[in-house]
Amino acid sequence: MLVHMERSDGGYGEDGYEVVVIGGGAAGLNAALVLGRARRRVAVVDSGQPRNAPAEGVHGFLSRDGVPPGELLAIGRDEVARYGGRFVPGRVARLEQVAGDGPSFRVVLEDGTALAAARVVVASGLRDELPDVPGLREGWGDYALHCPYCHGYEVADEPLGILGTHERSPHQALLVRQWSSDVVFFAVRPLSDEDRAALTKRDVRIVDGPVRAVTAAGVETAAEGVVPRRAVFVAPEFLPRDGFLDGLGCERDDAGWVRVDEWGATSVPGVYAAGNVVDAMAQVVSAAAAGAKAAAAVNADLVFQA
Ligand SMILES: Cc1cc2nc3c(=O)[nH]c(=O)nc-3n(C[C@H](O)[C@H](O)[C@H](O)COP(=O)(O)OP(=O)(O)OC[C@H]3O[C@@H](n4cnc5c(N)ncnc54)[C@H](O)[C@@H]3O)c2cc1C
Repeated sequence: MLVHMERSDGGYGEDGYEVVVIGGGAAGLNAALVLGRARRRVAVVDSGQPRNAPAEGVHGFLSRDGVPPGELLAIGRDEVARYGGRFVPGRVARLEQVAGDGPSFRVVLEDGTALAAARVVVASGLRDELPDVPGLREGWGDYALHCPYCHGYEVADEPLGILGTHERSPHQALLVRQWSSDVVFFAVRPLSDEDRAALTKRDVRIVDGPVRAVTAAGVETAAEGVVPRRAVFVAPEFLPRDGFLDGLGCERDDAGWVRVDEWGATSVPGVYAAGNVVDAMAQVVSAAAAGAKAAAAVNADLVFQA
């Protein structure tokens, strides 16, 4: 049931908040932390599936390098709770605008629970859609990797592979070469002459033709059988987890991603977004930073509302 902002508890009611944050990963928790410290009444709705859950550690986050992803989030949740932030487990199904003088929203969860919010921060991340190659999903975050900045150091100087299924794959191979001199590019789809020359110039060996599977032992190819590899890098399709925004009318770019300004404001007044849901390249530290910045914008928005 939706409870509107009419009660004595700050005027927001038990299920009413100044800000509802959708997503409790790095972006959402940092937004909630900054908003809590700004003494805003905040709730974080989270479905508990952070993108990096399969990884053993978060790398490249100053002061927290290598911490298990779940531990980082647990620390973040404690910090948010310290400033009065509330947590609502569940998945947001839709976000509705409520008619009124200023922005006002109804955040509806899949189980029917509804929260009232004056402002919303969307921080629901993205989904990595992997190519349909047996073994990839099973090895995701272990022997099947995508980001050399996240995992490259841990497999440095080992035999590495690049699954050439995506237009980004040749670029990925050239980057990965920074971490190992033994890199094989599996050209599943045809390579341009230019890409072939660039890979060859960097001593990346090319194996042309279909790949049957990727396993912990290596890459099963049609051309050479199993090519032993410690890890294989793959370029997933990045899909923002923002279906619940359908119907709200947020402006999107040509690729379908919600547009935000430098403060995370979407085209719908009162709706902000941060982290992987609007920025596929955001790592944990930059997702957290974007959440913090959006929180400051939300607070100013509330301070200066008419
Ligand atoms: C295998 C792997 C390893 C990685 N390793 C690193 C690394 O070492 N260092 C690094 O900097 N980056 C790493 N990354 C990238 C990192 O995962 C992202 O940068 C980071 O998770 C982005 O944070 P976020 O808050 O935007 O999204 P997320 O962390 O994905 O958090 C989004 C949250 O929103 C929730 N959610 C989604 N939809 C809804 C909904 N409808 N309702 C409610 N909640 C919802 C999800 O359950 C999730 O908890 C890695 C990624 C992968 C895939």
